[in-house]
Amino acid sequence: MRTTNALLYLNGVSVSFDGFKALNNLSLAIEPGEMRAIIGPNGAGKTTMMDVITGKTRPDEGDALFEGERDLTKLDETEIALLGIGRKFQKPTVFEMHSVEDNLLLALKSNRTARAAISWKPNAEDARRIDRILDTIRLNPARARLAGSLSHGQKQWLEIGMLLGQEPKLLLVDEPVAGMTDAETMQTAELLKEINHEKSVVVVEHDMHFVRELGVKVTCLHEGSVLAEGSIDQVSTNERVVEVYLGR
Ligand code: ADP
Repeated sequence: MRTTNALLYLNGVSVSFDGFKALNNLSLAIEPGEMRAIIGPNGAGKTTMMDVITGKTRPDEGDALFEGERDLTKLDETEIALLGIGRKFQKPTVFEMHSVEDNLLLALKSNRTARAAISWKPNAEDARRIDRILDTIRLNPARARLAGSLSHGQKQWLEIGMLLGQEPKLLLVDEPVAGMTDAETMQTAELLKEINHEKSVVVVEHDMHFVRELGVKVTCLHEGSVLAEGSIDQVSTNERVVEVYLGR
């Protein structure tokens, strides 16, 4: 196993489904503090990659080192979450009948063991954390509103906030701006950039306008491997990327 300073290092990862290679010798390094955008056509392997990182799918070959030492491919989903990797799926799953603030309280509570959660009451520090999260996700003015009354974009932000309540070191965010208005999309870029001051982020997204707004290194996957990597200008003008993805 190679030693690495990367926060996350996927090394020659392959995953097959009934003989079809969803990931094909994929290698990728995310540096500490980095935000990376992952793009690529449908079926490129983006979801499978996230599933390998979170322990939902075990690769046939390769390893996934977190902080240079822990091989994620040997751990289960709970162990990986406890190491500090949090994932937000595309569809927001907030508790609609609870207030915005209570959703965040529930996220903080779920961070504890079952026994500790029963007697848990938020203290002053927890209240400050919730305040900070509400500011980050632009929902402080809406803290008392039922989550079910929020716009689609606001629900996505609340779910990002719930993820922050679990204090991950690395956030995996799947298509955060799908279905958002243009204004919400731009605000989401700002919000993720702010979060990236403190956390590492991997964001899978099809919206190239949004990816450009993030202004971070981009990796384009195709057929389970890295097709191109670099700045948005480098990747979006790469002939192969235009051929298999952007030119469609
Ligand atoms: P993306 O997220 O980039 O659209 P996926 O990782 O979802 O790509 O899928 C990569 C390929 O693997 C696709 O061809 C998909 O049909 C296939 N695949 C993904 N999951 C499974 C599964 N559980 N069983 C069979 N094939 C799968």
